[in-house]
Amino acid sequence: MIEQDIIDRARSEGRNLLTEIEAKELIKQAGLTVVDTKLAVSKEEAISIGQQLGFPVVLKVASPDVVHKSDAGGVKLDLKTSRQVGKAYDDILGAVRQKYPEARIQGVSVQKMARPGIEVIIGMSKDAQFGPVLMFGLGGILVEILKDVSFRIVPLAKRDAREMIREIKGYPLLEGYRGQEPVDVANLEELILKVSSFVEQNPEVKELDLNPIFAYSDGAVAVDARVVLEEG
Ligand code: ADP
Ligand code: MG
Repeated sequence: MIEQDIIDRARSEGRNLLTEIEAKELIKQAGLTVVDTKLAVSKEEAISIGQQLGFPVVLKVASPDVVHKSDAGGVKLDLKTSRQVGKAYDDILGAVRQKYPEARIQGVSVQKMARPGIEVIIGMSKDAQFGPVLMFGLGGILVEILKDVSFRIVPLAKRDAREMIREIKGYPLLEGYRGQEPVDVANLEELILKVSSFVEQNPEVKELDLNPIFAYSDGAVAVDARVVLEEG
């Protein structure tokens, strides 16, 4: 499906929040690498997709009404067998229905468990004065508690992408701290520039969060994506 179709379909259903699957499809079309993610609408389908993708896999609730999937008990990682996938499917639906009885649930997304990397995030929000602003930071508690992030106004130049990565306090982690492999920083710069172009070309996108992206010594992959549209 092309970008506009994804956005139009969400709007026609009166939704401003895209599902993870839709958001990943959008950013994939923008040239970013995402974890291959498929929708399962039954337990049997989740198991068969898991078998096709190859274990271990991850299951997540697919709902346009659940913004933070793990807070709702909606994420199960590292599932190694069909049996574990089946149980995770039931557990996720049970937990989410209990926490958000009103939520529309499409099913679950099934994706490969990505190999560990350094978690980074790229976000976009719109400032009343400056318009779209990109944020970069390290993922997990570093962003939530320490707020170790940098910002630049869209559109970004190459130099902005370069600087915003290097100015966070956690930058030494990306360079390979204490014997860890250094991450491919040039690739992260390209990612940031691709997100900047995507944002420029899609003014209907109000907010974007790639949280987290797993960064490696040879590239990076987004394992979660959240897109909020402007009011239709
Ligand atoms: P949410 O942000 O909505 O709670 P995420 O999709 O970000 O849900 O999943 C929560 C966490 O689970 C992520 O921050 C990441 O650490 C881990 N995770 C998610 N998807 C994968 C994946 N495909 N492979 C490995 N780890 C993952
Ligand atoms: Mg996330």
